Amino acid sequence: MADYDLLIIGAGISGLSMAHYATRAGLNTLILEQERQVGGCLHSHRFGGELDGFWLELGAHSVFNSYGNLLAMLEAARALDRLRPRAKVGFRLYTAGAIRSIPSQLHFSELLLAPFRLLGLKKTGRSVADYFGRIVGPHNYATVLEPAFNAVICQPAGEFPAECLFNARPRRKDFPRSFTLAGGLQTIAEVLANDLLVQYGQTVRAIQQASDGFIIDTADGEYRAHALCLATPVADAARLLQGGFPELAAALAQIQTAMVESVGIAVPKTQLKLSPVAGLIGRNEAFYSAVSRDTVPDSAWRGFTFHFRPGVLDEAGKRACIAQVLGLPRQELTNIIIKTNQLPALRVGQGDLIGAVDRALAGTRLALTGNYFTGVAIEDCATRSRIEWERLQREGW
Ligand SMILES: Cc1cc2nc3c(=O)[nH]c(=O)nc-3n(C[C@H](O)[C@H](O)[C@H](O)COP(=O)(O)OP(=O)(O)OC[C@H]3O[C@@H](n4cnc5c(N)ncnc54)[C@H](O)[C@@H]3O)c2cc1C
Repeated sequence: MADYDLLIIGAGISGLSMAHYATRAGLNTLILEQERQVGGCLHSHRFGGELDGFWLELGAHSVFNSYGNLLAMLEAARALDRLRPRAKVGFRLYTAGAIRSIPSQLHFSELLLAPFRLLGLKKTGRSVADYFGRIVGPHNYATVLEPAFNAVICQPAGEFPAECLFNARPRRKDFPRSFTLAGGLQTIAEVLANDLLVQYGQTVRAIQQASDGFIIDTADGEYRAHALCLATPVADAARLLQGGFPELAAALAQIQTAMVESVGIAVPKTQLKLSPVAGLIGRNEAFYSAVSRDTVPDSAWRGFTFHFRPGVLDEAGKRACIAQVLGLPRQELTNIIIKTNQLPALRVGQGDLIGAVDRALAGTRLALTGNYFTGVAIEDCATRSRIEWERLQREGW
């Protein structure tokens, strides 16, 4: 006898989206989450003490009015009146110890032919370096676009599939172009979770198929469900599928993981000379980006989250780097928080790989969602969950 219609592993935006659709359709749905909070990569660190009320994004920082599935879920949760526009400040480049404007690094003569190079050029089957390098020219790609794309996906972007970056989506012009909520983007996860059943501190160790569904093992016991959805990072999904679904596990194991060492810091406003920025893009630096809180200005504090390349600097090295970039003495770096993030390192051929995964899932009540299908953006996750939810409905209960 199953305890639940649908069990979902992981309470990041992918799992929450799947649970949102299933719960609203009246299914008895439970999410099992290993942490004590929802959000996964939506992780807004909220400070206490003298910084009470100040928060910093340790993971995702930007959502846009083109994120239609996300907005529809917020609408259903009656949270649209909580959206706050983000201030329009620009990104700058940081290289060789200096901050540079992006236009100052572009070679405009090389850009002149860009519109013509774009004609007939397809993204499909091309890497980011191949596709965008052809359009803007090799010099512009190396000096500006490559570091900017590395910053966007927090990993070396050159071999990433071009079709998985910047998917064109219609904008809802009735909402701010880029927005957040009080408390940061994790509030989105919390708002969605309000209407859902989530069991915290439950690390799923194994899954197996039973005659009428699935049995899921955690350290605390066993759960049974008619249908199962894995909404974990790809490496965890591959590991959990190994026993019962070796073919799927082998397919997912082909997707590598990029680690990101993220360090957030809050600094009194008066200590910083740097003018307001959305963030600094590192070129040939140990960090991909230093994303700023200036998009949601605070009266007393400023904050930056440095997303470091993995394994390059130890903790002391990271502190020295942050102090140098922000122009602060090292002893002033007091309000520091760290998090290790992981993202899939997608490669050309991703479409074929996912095609095979979807064929193996067809006809089953096992669903897979996450950021390793059409792209890593939050809206890609929500979209995948909606598509998998629609398939599960077709499979029947
Ligand atoms: C530094 C960074 C910056 C980003 N910036 C942006 C941005 O600005 N805009 C944007 O659109 N996207 C951005 N992204 C991408 C986006 O945030 C992520 O791709 C997306 O949030 C992933 O959601 P998810 O639910 O698929 O996975 P996750 O958020 O990783 O959630 C997976 C969940 O599964 C849980 N879990 C894993 N294993 C188990 C287990 N065995 N048992 C129980 N629970 C388990 C984890 O604890 C976690 O909560 C960024 C990502 C990072 C890392």
